Amino acid sequence: MLTPEASVKSFYDFLKQKKIMGTKCKDCGKVYLPPRPLCPKCMNSNLEWLELDGKGKLAAFTIVAVAPTHMINAGYSRDNPYVFGVVKLDSGPSISAQILKVDSKKPEGIAIGSRMTVEFVTRGDKVLLGFKLA
Ligand SMILES: [Zn+2]
Repeated sequence: MLTPEASVKSFYDFLKQKKIMGTKCKDCGKVYLPPRPLCPKCMNSNLEWLELDGKGKLAAFTIVAVAPTHMINAGYSRDNPYVFGVVKLDSGPSISAQILKVDSKKPEGIAIGSRMTVEFVTRGDKVLLGFKLA
């Protein structure tokens, strides 16, 4: 068993410490983000915690105009949309997150494959994962 337990809660607890923590299967080497307690490939729980460095490439993105409540509370709206994307980390896994410091009103200026680096976003008592251009 991993300590702390591999879960979404642990993932967010580590974000508060400005750490991106995934789990790595000791048998096949596959890295899971968000962390998983089991390797579905090897069907075992022989995993260890692994800190990821938060560097990667933009794999996909979309513009969100109709925001969920926590993003409306952060000031986003139809008039101030935000960019949400998938970043493929150099260490293997892909993760979805807000893409910061890009012009959501000019999506044609945002290029797939752009180098990204992590930016931790504090909203209320939560720390969320974000990425910006590297
Ligand atoms: Zn495995």
